[in-house]
Amino acid sequence: MNSFIFRNSEELLKLCKEHDSPIWEIMLRYEMQISSKKREPIMSKLLERLDVIFNGINASIEKPEVSPSKMAGESTAFLVKHINEFDKYADSLLLNEAAIRAMLGAIATGENNARMGVILAFPTAGAAGVLPGVMYGAKYKFSLSKKELINMMLTASAIGVIIANTATLSGAAGGCQAEVGSASAMAAAALTEVRGASPETTLQAAALALKNMIGLACDPIGGLVEVPCIKRNGIAAVFSMSASDMAFMGIKSFVPFDEVVRAMREVGDMMSPRIKETALGGLATTPTGQKVAKRMGLLKIGENPCTK
Ligand code: SF4
Repeated sequence: MNSFIFRNSEELLKLCKEHDSPIWEIMLRYEMQISSKKREPIMSKLLERLDVIFNGINASIEKPEVSPSKMAGESTAFLVKHINEFDKYADSLLLNEAAIRAMLGAIATGENNARMGVILAFPTAGAAGVLPGVMYGAKYKFSLSKKELINMMLTASAIGVIIANTATLSGAAGGCQAEVGSASAMAAAALTEVRGASPETTLQAAALALKNMIGLACDPIGGLVEVPCIKRNGIAAVFSMSASDMAFMGIKSFVPFDEVVRAMREVGDMMSPRIKETALGGLATTPTGQKVAKRMGLLKIGENPCTK
């Protein structure tokens, strides 16, 4: 029996070549193999998850709500206003409508999470907006079907599997490079493959995206997944589009994807625990960050939330 298990991009590309298949198909076969499930139940579960993604975005768009910390919940409405009247703002904005929509999808997801709405942690709650944002923008730009959006989720998952095998997807273990950085690589790859690029080009997009996120600190104010997380997801969604466009135009990452992932792990190991989700450094300990944490009674200044 054929095995579809891969641990790195080299093995993934080999499987794509052997089976003359795109990455999403290999990922589906991988899932079938490890879960011992047939194609249909996996696809129907993915369809349910797709609804969770888009319902979460729509919930924030239809009923914006400020989070209990008051740090989040107002950005979605600004983006909706500009999308609704895009023709009016097009001359003064630099990004096109698909990119602004990607920002909207990402930020709406994060704001929905901040007010305890249901989201899909893809790959984590903190980084849950990047892929949905890119899917939201791409759906508009390329009129993608549900099947194509599910393919995007599968391609993204393959990249996530490789990163999880080699490094980590956790901000507490590897900083935000491991969360939003990984989500950006996943989204860039998904967007590239759904546009018809080869597996090689798809992995170039992932490498370009992750490479540019190396060293990113995890420094959430008060330990809440709001600031900088939500807007960081919005910018990362657009940034993933840039990496995808670069790869699509033929630009290659000088360092191959597997090496980028190993470098990300190494940098994560070198990072101080103060910038690994402990809220003891970076934006969390700015005067503004400390003021919010004190107001919320979340942390005393300098207190480690992990030992609280
Ligand atoms: S800053 Fe930390 S909590 Fe926020 S998204 Fe990044 S890794 Fe997650």
